[in-house]
Amino acid sequence: MISDSFKQDLLNRVDVVDIVGRSVQLKKAGANFSGLCPFHGEKTPSFTVSPSKQFYHCFGCGAHGNAISFLMEYQGLGYVDAVRELAQGVGLKMPEFQRERSYPGARAGEGAAGASGVGAAAEEGPDLYALMERAMRYYRDQLKQSPRAIDYLKGRGLTGQIAARFGIGYAPAGWQNLQAVFPEYSEAAIKEVGLVIDNEAGKRYDRFRDRIMFPIHSQRGMVIGFGGRILGAESNEEGKATGPKYLNSPETPLFEKGRELYGFSQARNPIRSAGRAVVVEGYMDVVALAQAGVDYAVATLGTATSAVHVQKLFRQTDEVVFCFDGDRAGRKAAWHALEVCLPVLADNKTVRFLFLPAEHDPDSFVRERGQEAFEHELQRATPLSAFLLDHLSSDLDLDTPEGRSRLVHEAKPLLTRIAAPALQIQLGHQLAELAQMATQELARITGLRLSAERNFGRSFGRSDARRGAPPPARRGLEAKLERRLLRGLVAQPDRASALAGLMNTNAQEPGSPAARAITALTQQVLEQPGMSASFLLDVFQGSEHEKPIADAYAELLELRMDDAQLEADFQADLAAMRSALKTARIEQLKSIASEAMSAEEKTELVRLISEQAQRRDGTP
Ligand SMILES: [Zn+2]
Repeated sequence: MISDSFKQDLLNRVDVVDIVGRSVQLKKAGANFSGLCPFHGEKTPSFTVSPSKQFYHCFGCGAHGNAISFLMEYQGLGYVDAVRELAQGVGLKMPEFQRERSYPGARAGEGAAGASGVGAAAEEGPDLYALMERAMRYYRDQLKQSPRAIDYLKGRGLTGQIAARFGIGYAPAGWQNLQAVFPEYSEAAIKEVGLVIDNEAGKRYDRFRDRIMFPIHSQRGMVIGFGGRILGAESNEEGKATGPKYLNSPETPLFEKGRELYGFSQARNPIRSAGRAVVVEGYMDVVALAQAGVDYAVATLGTATSAVHVQKLFRQTDEVVFCFDGDRAGRKAAWHALEVCLPVLADNKTVRFLFLPAEHDPDSFVRERGQEAFEHELQRATPLSAFLLDHLSSDLDLDTPEGRSRLVHEAKPLLTRIAAPALQIQLGHQLAELAQMATQELARITGLRLSAERNFGRSFGRSDARRGAPPPARRGLEAKLERRLLRGLVAQPDRASALAGLMNTNAQEPGSPAARAITALTQQVLEQPGMSASFLLDVFQGSEHEKPIADAYAELLELRMDDAQLEADFQADLAAMRSALKTARIEQLKSIASEAMSAEEKTELVRLISEQAQRRDGTP
């Protein structure tokens, strides 16, 4: 939606020290600034902001990012809003949000959204938040007037208090009820926020009809969408369909599905105090759990769990429990969530899975058995490691060598993606046991470091199926060099040209997280020259590369080296890496029996050995 060049331009103009400094008292500390972290409670400052690289990092809780992510995290803004607010501050216009006409009626008197200052587009058009707020109030008023809707909610065990806490309302039956609250019913903005639909004949009608309405809030509490549960039957007496059971707002300028969690603004503080977040599938689950006293649950809003969801929760707590239905669909959703979690895991984070009995969803379970029983189930939820191995083993016959080999084959790509080093080793040991292999054998086959020397995954050198992995000492050196090179690259992205082609990572041999990040960053920078360090963070936010990149930034902050020192280091590391790669290749070639060697390989070996000899002699 927002072009990269616009984002880049924006990040070049704003100053992250200034943005953070509005909310956090910062003190100069050497080349950087530091202060008390706004994202976790602390007494001594571990939150550091770099003016030269334009990013922040907390050594206490790991929060990190640039000016955009700071506004998102601190103020609970959506991405678009954060960009808009920053743009407004530096006088940049967001072209795609300008509107041709103004809708004076749309802004009149709608305090909440207008006063909060996010309605930067108000100059050009209506405040979309104000429209949503008005719709929500209308639905809530309608609920009060509908005994049928009230009975339904009471029947589900909900009190007026909980209904009010979640802003639950009712969209009456009928096609154009919203006309009563929106004199500008025919205007484009009403459709833009997803409240109405135009049919093929161009006739406009309400999207939500005869539904219990659940407003979806942004992190900061603004209404950005709705979920509607059908109140009547899914078909009428004549058997004609009246719509799906659950219906959500479409994606709109306010509502990006993969980023938002239903109930997050209400659950944020409870999650912090409970030290745990529960992820469920539906809004009724969230509301029913809150009614029962489990107020730290959120829902994924009809989309699959995303890395952004998980990271959002990990900012608040170290433990996330996914609670899905016990049926096939629930297991599938849980498996997807597991895959999403692997690259964002850390050794201090816990992910678990709770599968309720097949006849239950969280809503029915907690209504029947209550808070204590549910929390008891949470305690016993399956750890990610156990779910991973159970799930992979479930269709395999581990009594046969074939079944056990298959298990290793299927587990390998998953284990490789785990960002938590200690957990990766633990799982490796468990896998070795299940597969009836020695840990070293498993390590050799999978390329995973499962011994004490392991730091990061295998990465360097060209892969060759005929040979085993390079010796551990070499891998340790390479892993270290990879991380240092990544550090040099994020400090100054235009170093990408020096690194291009150096990393040889591919699907068969995915490489260490740092090596993969270097490959991805290098490609990105070469495609888009002139990238700033803070823009790189933006591009890779939420991807598997975010963590290695953030680690590199953190190291930069800790080192406090000046640019000249960094450059000297980078050049030395680059030379060391080239030499390490050559040595590895020589060893690889030497290990091939000479009758199995191709002519090209022989030539290559001779060339490499002579180059190495020259280097030892000190000749160029
Ligand atoms: Zn912190």
